[in-house]
Amino acid sequence: MKSLNGYFPFLNRRRRYDAGIIGAGVQGLTLAYRLARAGYRVAVFERSQKIAERVPSTMNEGWAHCGGYHAQSILDFSEGVTVAKRCRRGAATIRELFPEAMELTDMSSYSCSFREDRIEEIEGRWECAGVRFQPVSNSVLRSCFSGISTDRIVRAWKMDDFAVNTRALYGRLLSAARATGRCDIFTGVEAHFEDTTAGAAKLHATGSQRKVLCLQAPVWLYAAGYGNADVYGRVHGIRPQLRFFKSHLGAVNWDFRDGIYCLDAHEVGGMPHVSHCNGRVRMVFGQNEDAVQVDSPDGSPIPERHRLFVEGVRRLFPDFGEEDLAKFYACTKVDVPDRPGAARSLNVKTLEPVPNHILVWPGKMTEAFATMDSLAEMVGDRLRSESGPQVAMRPLDAEVAGV
Ligand SMILES: Cc1cc2nc3c(=O)[nH]c(=O)nc-3n(C[C@H](O)[C@H](O)[C@H](O)COP(=O)(O)OP(=O)(O)OC[C@H]3O[C@@H](n4cnc5c(N)ncnc54)[C@H](O)[C@@H]3O)c2cc1C
Repeated sequence: MKSLNGYFPFLNRRRRYDAGIIGAGVQGLTLAYRLARAGYRVAVFERSQKIAERVPSTMNEGWAHCGGYHAQSILDFSEGVTVAKRCRRGAATIRELFPEAMELTDMSSYSCSFREDRIEEIEGRWECAGVRFQPVSNSVLRSCFSGISTDRIVRAWKMDDFAVNTRALYGRLLSAARATGRCDIFTGVEAHFEDTTAGAAKLHATGSQRKVLCLQAPVWLYAAGYGNADVYGRVHGIRPQLRFFKSHLGAVNWDFRDGIYCLDAHEVGGMPHVSHCNGRVRMVFGQNEDAVQVDSPDGSPIPERHRLFVEGVRRLFPDFGEEDLAKFYACTKVDVPDRPGAARSLNVKTLEPVPNHILVWPGKMTEAFATMDSLAEMVGDRLRSESGPQVAMRPLDAEVAGV
């Protein structure tokens, strides 16, 4: 990885890339890897000195969703099923390409519901989404999770979700992208474009040394998470309308080696993770329907949410106490509403207010491994059409394009 200080040979000399990516969270890294592997020269610019520092990509639950939760959490049936399918594809990609990033490979994950009236719909949605589930008895849960109360649980299932060590995952993505020999990753830099039509950018080091790097690329992808509004506004004078939703997580001093989540609104789910400092296992719990709309992203937890979180964990684990909670923290998700007053959207969004300057936001980390494939394909299509052999249009494409 290059920090700008170590990049003197190229300073003030224009370099050409096929694509520039702003932001090295899970989305930017996945896109960079996909494009570089497909043969394109890619430059990635990350504002922080470290990859994905204090952003959702590393502050999340590290839960590789295999569709179980998301088939249910989205009210609209077909949207829920679509997201669930994308999550399954993304999780399968992580398993296949980066198995080293899977934590506790012998772990199992379980889900449950307190609501008899929802069971038929839950299983119906899973069947439509191709989610794997297998009903289990409450005694299975009791054998995995000491102290669990199964009194309220009307149905429990074994699922195929797994824990991801996000740090290992991004490390593997970085290595894989750089191993192509076509991906440069610059940390500690912000983009300032001098001529957006020609795709020319000047990049400034954010630290005390305001060094400048000049480069050019025909396509730019903005994967800066909630930073997208600021950076796009600064570059193009257009600020996409974003909303921010704060969610809370609790790291709990329990060494369960399996994951469990209750599917119902306001209930909790916990995923085990191995600390890279001492090898101890801890659960990271989050709560459904916890997202609180806030004016701007920051990491301070909302005190009221702490109480709701504790109550939620206690509905599954009645003996849970403050001494079990190692850390309670918040992280902000971003959302792009379709219209004013629209309900919160968990969906993926791509916007292109300025041609070839594409804004992207994912729903879940897991989905990025599916959605970035499609985006990389679309970018590749554009790049191929600018130079080199083109693939012929199908009649229906030609009709849509008016050719
Ligand atoms: C509390 C919480 C829990 C979650 N749990 C899960 C989970 O368990 N499983 C799951 O699949 N998903 C989960 N998600 C969702 C998932 O984490 C996010 O959707 C995903 O990480 C977003 O990735 P991203 O790359 O788009 O953005 P980000 O992670 O926000 O990364 C953006 C990057 O861009 C950089 N950047 C910002 N501005 C600039 C700029 N001007 N110039 C250059 N770089 C810039 C940032 O420093 C950052 O590195 C969770 C999210 C939250 C908030």
